[in-house]
Amino acid sequence: MIIITSIGDYEREQETIHDHLGWILPEVNVTGELEQAFVTDLRNQTAEMLSDGSYAKGRSSAAFVVVRPTTTTTLLNTDLKSYLHGETTIPGNKKDHSSYRGELGGILAGVVYTNELCKKHQVRTGKCIFGCDNTGALSAIFRWKRPNPRWASYDLVCMIRFHIKNSPIVWVKKHVKGHQDDHKKFAELDSWSQANVIADKLAKAELRKGRPLIQGPLLEGETWKLQCKGNIIAGGSEKQIRQAIHETRMHDRWNKQFGLEGVEDEFDWDTFKRTCRSKSDWQQIWFAKHNSRIGGIRQNLVRRKHGEDPTCPCCGEEETTDHIYQCTNIEMQDTYDENMERSQVI
Ligand SMILES: [Zn+2]
Repeated sequence: MIIITSIGDYEREQETIHDHLGWILPEVNVTGELEQAFVTDLRNQTAEMLSDGSYAKGRSSAAFVVVRPTTTTTLLNTDLKSYLHGETTIPGNKKDHSSYRGELGGILAGVVYTNELCKKHQVRTGKCIFGCDNTGALSAIFRWKRPNPRWASYDLVCMIRFHIKNSPIVWVKKHVKGHQDDHKKFAELDSWSQANVIADKLAKAELRKGRPLIQGPLLEGETWKLQCKGNIIAGGSEKQIRQAIHETRMHDRWNKQFGLEGVEDEFDWDTFKRTCRSKSDWQQIWFAKHNSRIGGIRQNLVRRKHGEDPTCPCCGEEETTDHIYQCTNIEMQDTYDENMERSQVI
């Protein structure tokens, strides 16, 4: 007979279990029957699980669902209680969040939940097929390629790999097409697509809850954290480190170049960055050269001894970078107007 001597101790034990798993082990309200059915499937190597992520305004969430036989009811009439499911909100900086990070968070929560279930029911061997509609996330987890800190959401990729490696069961990936209910009735979809629709709805509902993002201590399977200006680097580390080293220096240089010293605060660097990034590589290089005043205009050609005459062939004034826009020659002005008009249309 087990005698509970102290509720406090029990609670503390529960707390410690959740402490090292935190957001990666969401609370799952499930009947014993559903839980048992999933455990049996795991043992019989017939278990099927699927997850989906959701992303909006710099936040991402996810839900995992255990796939169940096809239902012929409508989505509205589907009883969510008949599905074993869990939802979670993924921590991270606004910039790191994406639908991809959401997908990874869903896989992680699904795997961690299943592993805990295996522990609870002493499952020592088994198999689970894991479905996801994001091929990028599936290949980051299941392909042979070794994760690289340059990858986006490297932190989550490492954690998922850790929990899969330490899982008593075998995990097999499966790509499931997303949003199949856009052009087919829910009742007509196969079991995987139905589970995908359910997971999508649950992930969106989780996102709407707007839970606070908690960056707690290191969770089980989490790699050491690299911080930059107070922000934890979740992935794409080379880019972020380069940015941290060069950004201020680069701003200072451009401020000087554009004559913005003293009014720097009025300059919107985010818009500048977005404009540059929306262009192709060669256009970005052209911008940088043009803004640095090192483009192939006559003044520079003479300076580099590639030419002898620095004057504009159209008006006779010196052809500097700014002169390209200021030339008073009527033909040049027409070309300028014509192109400005065309660029507005684009
Ligand atoms: Zn001119």
